[in-house]
Amino acid sequence: MTAFVCAEPPEVGPKFMAASRLALQVSRQWTDREQLRVRFLSGTPELHHYVALAVDGPHGWNACSAMQFVFSDEKDSEIRISFDSGSSWSQVGTDALWVPVKQATMNLAIRLEDAGAHIDRPIHHEFGHALGFIHGHQNPYLGPLDEPAVYAWYRSRGYPEWWTKANVLERLPLDDVSAIGGAIPSVMNYHIPRDLWLDGKAPEPSDYPTYWDAYAAETWYGAPPERYTSILFPIAGRG
Ligand SMILES: [Zn+2]
Repeated sequence: MTAFVCAEPPEVGPKFMAASRLALQVSRQWTDREQLRVRFLSGTPELHHYVALAVDGPHGWNACSAMQFVFSDEKDSEIRISFDSGSSWSQVGTDALWVPVKQATMNLAIRLEDAGAHIDRPIHHEFGHALGFIHGHQNPYLGPLDEPAVYAWYRSRGYPEWWTKANVLERLPLDDVSAIGGAIPSVMNYHIPRDLWLDGKAPEPSDYPTYWDAYAAETWYGAPPERYTSILFPIAGRG
């Protein structure tokens, strides 16, 4: 099988509002466990601490659903993270199980010196993939993109056509996607200029899981642990 791997392009342009649907790929959803062990293959203790706090904090994915990322030294941990330079990427959902245990299932091309939104977004975006979320802009329910213009736009930024096709243009089959409807700003959306969307509706990206990301995660994996319900979570608005 062909593994789908996300690579995150650099952030560009202002944020755009649009109709979008956060989508989970049904065939890559975790269905047989309620926690995912996360092991670091490289990086400093300080970087590990930063990533763990982002994921386990009130604005991270652990506050969104019952599926919990648990940081572990166990060799067969489902999620294994490297910190190589270049681009950030992750296997989507259960595809991580196909990766040999000595190899990473996720790469975070981040440095602690850039702490803040610049490194928070790649963390939350790639952990969203680890849960099984696809890119919001690759949801088959969205309107069409101007393909020649998209290829040209990403080519001018150094991305080859195969990358643009796999990470921007390809849509998943309807029967393999579970989507939450509505206009959904999401951490799983890329920053794609509005004029590349033929219907003018560009999905709005986010640096953190949004209310709708949290709603979708809870829908698919169940309610988050009680310890999060007393935290003021301005994005999710949970009582
Ligand atoms: Zn991605």
